[in-house]
Amino acid sequence: MKRRKFLEASAVVGAGHAAHEEVHRAHPDWIEQDRDGNVVRHWVMPDMFLTCRFGPYNFEHMPLVVEEVLTRYDVDAVFANRWVEYGSFRVCYCVYCRQLFRERYALDLPREPYSDEPSWKLYMRFYQERIAELWRLWDATCKKTRPGTTFVGKMSVPAGPGVGIADVAGLLKGAQEG
Ligand SMILES: [Zn+2]
Repeated sequence: MKRRKFLEASAVVGAGHAAHEEVHRAHPDWIEQDRDGNVVRHWVMPDMFLTCRFGPYNFEHMPLVVEEVLTRYDVDAVFANRWVEYGSFRVCYCVYCRQLFRERYALDLPREPYSDEPSWKLYMRFYQERIAELWRLWDATCKKTRPGTTFVGKMSVPAGPGVGIADVAGLLKGAQEG
């Protein structure tokens, strides 16, 4: 008989989103930066800070959170959103993003999103690749901590030019097949 697996319970984690002042003080390098090197505050809650999606907050700290959730709670999946931008796309200029982009593309980050700069198109690629890397990491963390569990990233209709989550899905699929 064909068995169908249902996700009976899932845990939702706040993926690289708002951070309190204490987090900012303890880990200033976790916070997103603008082009002038200023830390970026949350657009709705200005007393909070915005963490960088691609730095150590998501790649080092969040796997520990995922691990803790799966150790403490009997859930089948971990879910997170904040992946596709809706018309307000910003480039993060923190030290990690600057370094990584330069290592991969031998260019500086674009000065403006949606610009004609050659680096903008590459930044879209970078963005998608980095999300795919992050999802794979979190999924591996799920499976290592509690076999049979999975990470689920929110899939949405792409809004900005080239910031398509469908492309991320393609990268993930390619990695699975490859
Ligand atoms: Zn960054």
